[in-house]
Amino acid sequence: MNKGSGAEETWRVRPPIPNPESPAPSFPRAFVFPVYNGPMNDLDRAAARARQLADQRFPGEPGVRDLLAVAADADAARSDRGTALRLLGAVLGEALVGPRIVHLDVIGACNSNCIYCRDHSPYLHDREPWRAMEMPFDLAARLIDEAVELGAELIPVVGAGENLLHSRFADLVKLLKTKPVRFEVFTNGLDWDDETIALFADAPNALVAFSLSAATPATWAAFRPEAAPELFTRIEQTIRALIARRGAGLRVAIVHVLNKLNVREVLPMIRHAIALGVDEVEFKLTEINDAARSLKLDAPEVESIRRELREARRLAALAGVDIHDNIEFQLERLDPETGLYTVGLYDEIPCHAGFEMIRVRRDGRISFCCGLKFVGDARTTTLAEHWSGAEMQAARNAALAMPRGANRWLPDGGMLRDPQCDYCYNYLFNVQAWHRARQAGVAHLLLGKT
Ligand code: SF4
Repeated sequence: MNKGSGAEETWRVRPPIPNPESPAPSFPRAFVFPVYNGPMNDLDRAAARARQLADQRFPGEPGVRDLLAVAADADAARSDRGTALRLLGAVLGEALVGPRIVHLDVIGACNSNCIYCRDHSPYLHDREPWRAMEMPFDLAARLIDEAVELGAELIPVVGAGENLLHSRFADLVKLLKTKPVRFEVFTNGLDWDDETIALFADAPNALVAFSLSAATPATWAAFRPEAAPELFTRIEQTIRALIARRGAGLRVAIVHVLNKLNVREVLPMIRHAIALGVDEVEFKLTEINDAARSLKLDAPEVESIRRELREARRLAALAGVDIHDNIEFQLERLDPETGLYTVGLYDEIPCHAGFEMIRVRRDGRISFCCGLKFVGDARTTTLAEHWSGAEMQAARNAALAMPRGANRWLPDGGMLRDPQCDYCYNYLFNVQAWHRARQAGVAHLLLGKT
């Protein structure tokens, strides 16, 4: 589904947000702590460190005290402790545990050419050579091991291409199935056969997401000028067969990218998902890049999505299908002219990407988030070294201090806060972290108001 990768043409032609002075993040110097190089998946160690830092900085802050209690609770779920520790890390200015998510972008090639795709649309030309490359299997395998060592809870295998085209895709999935981590694979569904279905059917903790953007063969083919509408029926058969054969550990999702061509299919999409028996549906608005300008929604179309979505949610709830809760946020903040929906968001709330995620592109370069913001190289450093390194620490602090005007030049020559932040793919965990901080009573500390 091409979630957050490769967009040089779209982003680089636009000027960066002017910030000539590139102010350093405004953490007082006394609170920049030495870098920790030990294991990042030891929650007891992290909780003890959090207490030590909290005693120095915020003794008696009730919100911090409550978070410390969750972080130290050996009976609490590991993910709840990790969540508390990531929020404490943001408040205290130090990553106390590793990232929750490690994205692997393993392949740039695709066997489709969806017209809204910023990487493979037939309306785009002059692709850079790295786009078609795949991540070497050995590198991917090492990164999976390192992600697990860092305590990651989720590895999405998602990038600019079709994952099944990776020359060792089956080996990657077999490896992921042996690891104590949840993984997600995104696919256009075109190249599936019985062997692929069997490969995923017994996955102990995984999700497969089919990118369709249509409820009918005609709409599906309208997005894919070189594909026959009948292929849609074959993908439906694949989804049905996968659901019929899967064990308890596998969830199946459909992703629909909404735009002018499929705007009237929100309800049919949900009925279709229910009929197929999938577990989850994710709606998202099409990114209005150079290729997709003609697909821009107008105001009545946005209103139509809102209306259909209300009924879609009702039907989905009755059928036990989970609709991701991102779409209402996108609709609420959407600027119909530009298609952007996070403009100004980070004047209001901090960016927590530096505590939540790592993304590794197929060429080994490590990005700060789903945008193209390169801060390291997995060919020369381990993920643990990268996570604890000075560059990452500085970027992490600058991202947190965005509402205070902070920004930072990155080693790749770009800036951390740039126009990609107006179309941020990671708004969900950032908004969730903000709500959590408010609930916990520590939001004022994140904004530097002690
Ligand atoms: S706000 Fe900017 S730096 Fe942070 S996750 Fe979004 S795009 Fe990346």
